[in-house]
Amino acid sequence: MIITLAGGGSTFTPGIVKSIALRREELEVDEIRLYDIDGERQRKVGVLVDWILHEDLGTDIKLTVTTDPKEAFTDASFVFAQMRVGKYAMREQDEKIPLRHGCVGQETCGCGGMAYGMRTIFPMVELIDLVEKYAKDDYWILNYSNPAAIVSEACRVLRPDARIINICDMPIAIIDVVCEALQIDKRDVEYDYFGLNHFGWFTSIRCKGEEILPELRDYIMEHEILLPDSYVKNAAKQGAMAGVKKDGGESGAEQNRHTKGSWYYVWKGVYEIMELFPEYLPNTYLNYYLQQKEFVEHSDPERTRANEVMDGREKSLFEGIDRYEATGEIDESIFYAGSHGDWIADLALALKNDTKARFLVICQNKGAIPNMPYDAMVELPAYIGKNGPEVISRDEIPLFQQGLMMQQVNCEKLLVEGCIEGSYEKVLKAFALNKTVPSIKVAKEVLDDMIEANKDYWPELK
Ligand code: NAD
Repeated sequence: MIITLAGGGSTFTPGIVKSIALRREELEVDEIRLYDIDGERQRKVGVLVDWILHEDLGTDIKLTVTTDPKEAFTDASFVFAQMRVGKYAMREQDEKIPLRHGCVGQETCGCGGMAYGMRTIFPMVELIDLVEKYAKDDYWILNYSNPAAIVSEACRVLRPDARIINICDMPIAIIDVVCEALQIDKRDVEYDYFGLNHFGWFTSIRCKGEEILPELRDYIMEHEILLPDSYVKNAAKQGAMAGVKKDGGESGAEQNRHTKGSWYYVWKGVYEIMELFPEYLPNTYLNYYLQQKEFVEHSDPERTRANEVMDGREKSLFEGIDRYEATGEIDESIFYAGSHGDWIADLALALKNDTKARFLVICQNKGAIPNMPYDAMVELPAYIGKNGPEVISRDEIPLFQQGLMMQQVNCEKLLVEGCIEGSYEKVLKAFALNKTVPSIKVAKEVLDDMIEANKDYWPELK
């Protein structure tokens, strides 16, 4: 049983490998392979992965580190994809170019997300083709690579038969924060959710079968548990919400990267949305679409989240590996382990062992949300077994959410069409249609700057 991580040089690789290794009996994993196009970056991560597998956890799982696709994918059963095309240097452009024009600059939302999507579509298709060629016939690609909404739409159009499941850890991060603050075990929690990737709403959250969302909303508003500073304190001080049995949450507070630095405003925005719209629990990313003006106002166009990650997670990981190579001393705090890795490893487990466990996945709608198009890529809960996701359908969604989603779906579809056809007009229409862009003039200015910045990555637009 072989699992390959594509984007093996990712800052998330050590944490994901740890999650796989901790499930080695159930996954029956014999070999983990790291595949990346940046050999040196991946070699370094490989040094840490070797320590995790063989020193920390003492497993006999074989480790292969390679830049050769044939060696990476031959006979692999699972490919966990997590590539960042253009790396952090290009993410910085995705965030800073829109801000210069007064628009949201974010990795996956708005113009930044569209730029990143245009860089990622063809490398993702290439990855699928390599996996099809070399891996086992019943392979699964579990994809974390962002922007997941655009990537999944492109895969649907260009490789409709690929055995790929696109996933996202943000809803899980929200559930983690809630469970941490309320001191409840997330294994007792089940939820309903609908939306697009980075664009959705929890409509029900149940703890041991009992609905807690209305009460939870009140609790969140009163105790500000979603605000990074507060929720850790609240977890210690206040314990469980009335009616929810306290039986020990996971100690992930310090590990939750979504609570650091500029994430503060993302969580704060959830309160502002909830105050105005007393329904559901919104995904944090909706902020970028519903409070675009305020986001731009509190952003620093000279220092965005890409800089935070480069000076933080990325720097501490690679400096820590250098230190380990020089001294033999390891500092485990240099890498994240927990929900992000657990989520993808558990998904593989559900597929392999046909567990029918419930996950949130990005999938073709096919009528599951009756008032969304059949071919829209939506995010919904699904039971996962050996044949893939069995998506749980739901009733029609309200007009407000449907309107927002339709605008975003059409924007993403136009972008993918424009990218495939090399059509400047379609890509410009996608930029103009995005809710974060105030006018067609601004859309054109941002797009033209992005064409220049992405000339090594994007297809030519005519
Ligand atoms: P990173 O820059 O640390 O790592 C990405 C790696 O991908 C780099 O080593 C790079 O060399 C490699 N890469 C680039 N193009 C490649 C290609 N064509 N083939 C193989 N490898 C390639 O990035 P990161 O912060 O660790 O994030 C990795 C990915 O995971 C990103 O796409 C990010 O947006 C995504 N992500 C998704 C979620 C989610 O919930 N869906 C959460 C976190 C990160």
